[in-house]
Amino acid sequence: MAEVRFEQATRVYPGSDVPAVDALDLTIADGEFMVLVGPSGCGKSTLLRIVGDLIQPTAGKVVVNGKSAHQARLDRDYGIVFQDAVLFDWRTVAKNISLPLEMVGWDRRKRAERVNELVDLVELAGFESHHPWQLSGGMQQRVSIARALSFDPPLLLMDEPFGALDAITRDEMNLELLRIWSESKKTVLFITHSIPEAVFLGDRVIVMTPRPGKVAEILNIDLPHPRATAVRDDAKFIGYVKGIRERLGVR
Ligand code: ADP
Repeated sequence: MAEVRFEQATRVYPGSDVPAVDALDLTIADGEFMVLVGPSGCGKSTLLRIVGDLIQPTAGKVVVNGKSAHQARLDRDYGIVFQDAVLFDWRTVAKNISLPLEMVGWDRRKRAERVNELVDLVELAGFESHHPWQLSGGMQQRVSIARALSFDPPLLLMDEPFGALDAITRDEMNLELLRIWSESKKTVLFITHSIPEAVFLGDRVIVMTPRPGKVAEILNIDLPHPRATAVRDDAKFIGYVKGIRERLGVR
């Protein structure tokens, strides 16, 4: 179970009088792939950080699995993936993935079993003994996704995870992520400023406008799963992209 509920969630940063997120009411359903799209500065990261208990709302609240965000973090209900893979260069792929398990004292055998499952899930079998600097950017992000899933959290928070990848690798990672999502049945909150990426991945797409961070529109993406790259040529897909562009005033 991973339902996320924002109740009038507001965040005003110190020294600012404009809320970065303003009185947000929103529910993300269990198992849903929710995407936030909008220009830089519209409050996407702020919103994700509130869910992950990395910062606190200045008014209102967020309820995760029926608990406070703080309790959900203590219960390891989240895996978080950022744009930068943040791997330790001196540790192998297997040791990067097992780090969170090591930190809470899982024994060697249990760790090895879990790492094997995760390496299979992100399709990195054969690369366990490689170091991060021997991997492509896409492979590094697979390692960080595997590490985020190490405790099998019900909720995956992803802040522009593919923003630094080239376009072809990014398309591949989009497909991979949808496969992982459908196999692992996670609830996903995913941030991007790529409109086509948002439409390709999302069950729903939240379109945000800046200052104060407000939801301009929430779109249901009525495209069947599994989605293949060819869906990008579908008239419906193109229509969604165009609609979001217009909503954001992108010419
Ligand atoms: P996005 O992720 O959509 O780019 P952010 O959530 O990072 O947007 O930022 C939303 C707004 O809050 C921006 O105007 C940004 O300048 C401001 N902001 C973000 N983090 C801080 C901070 N730590 N201190 C002050 N202002 C911040």
